[in-house]
Amino acid sequence: MTDRRKFLKTSALASAALLVNACSNDKPKANTKVNKPIVLSTWRFGIEANQAAWAILSKNGKALDAVEAGVMVPEGDPKERSVGYGGRPDRDGRITLDACIMDELSNIGSVAGLEFIKHPISVARAVMEKTPHVMLVGDGALQFALSQGFKKENLMVEESEKEWKEWLKDSEYKPIANIENHDTIGMIALDSHGNLSGACTTSGMAFKMHGRVGDSPIIGAGLYVDNEVGAATATGHGEEVIRIAGCHLVVELMRQGKTPQQACEEAVARVVKLMDLRKKDLKDIQVGFIALNKNGETGSYCVQSGFNYAVYDASGNRLIDAGYHIKV
Ligand code: ASP
Repeated sequence: MTDRRKFLKTSALASAALLVNACSNDKPKANTKVNKPIVLSTWRFGIEANQAAWAILSKNGKALDAVEAGVMVPEGDPKERSVGYGGRPDRDGRITLDACIMDELSNIGSVAGLEFIKHPISVARAVMEKTPHVMLVGDGALQFALSQGFKKENLMVEESEKEWKEWLKDSEYKPIANIENHDTIGMIALDSHGNLSGACTTSGMAFKMHGRVGDSPIIGAGLYVDNEVGAATATGHGEEVIRIAGCHLVVELMRQGKTPQQACEEAVARVVKLMDLRKKDLKDIQVGFIALNKNGETGSYCVQSGFNYAVYDASGNRLIDAGYHIKV
């Protein structure tokens, strides 16, 4: 080998090594321009939710406060029929809510099967901040909420009651993907201090069995945050998200050097593979992920077309259609 060829070969190897290093480094480079603050949330109601979050983020507020305030918007809106007040009931006619929250120090709090409380995300935050535990369910969650001063309210709206009575006629449980018989708000944010937090809240699948818990209140499934790496949240058929520990997977893929987009695509590929293995029809389910890394870069992907999400950063607040595995 001539000296010149040897030199070329060595410098090619050196650049490859540099590239590998660049990919495996969790932390943003000192000279990388970080896009912060930024907030992302699932579905079209994310637009309004982002506005509430942005009011905090744009004043140098904390990502944790922003995600809580953000998801409280659809939670409190009776016209949003898949989250909080106005959410659809289970097959026994009970509205049972699931929510979780995670901050930059990996503090976590979660409630599942919580009834009569309009803002389960704030109860999840109280679990995180005021108990030695991370998750409370059912009546225990309700008793705790009441002890913290949350008000017991009737969350059933007329439309939900009508739909439930209609559903009882056939009692067939067949959630249709992308139709609002589900639709969780998951929100992840990076604040101006460079810290990440996330929140996720839902009434779950309409007409689910009483006691059914989806991915949304499960840290690692419906939400995950690692302040060194990034954050992810999910929506769709929770059973499929739990099966792959979805949001933890997305964050771990980012840790390995994947972009948020690549990480979301790989997690969806995992869902698809397990559906194929079990000979299930992909058209029957939806799973969507959104992700954010420490540089403020974003990604999203879903099983079937129809999932969108809202992003708010210095360029404004907009709704974006996620890429998908199959078109329906
Ligand atoms: N993931 C939620 C659940 O399984 C529902 C949804 O996001 O569509 O309860």
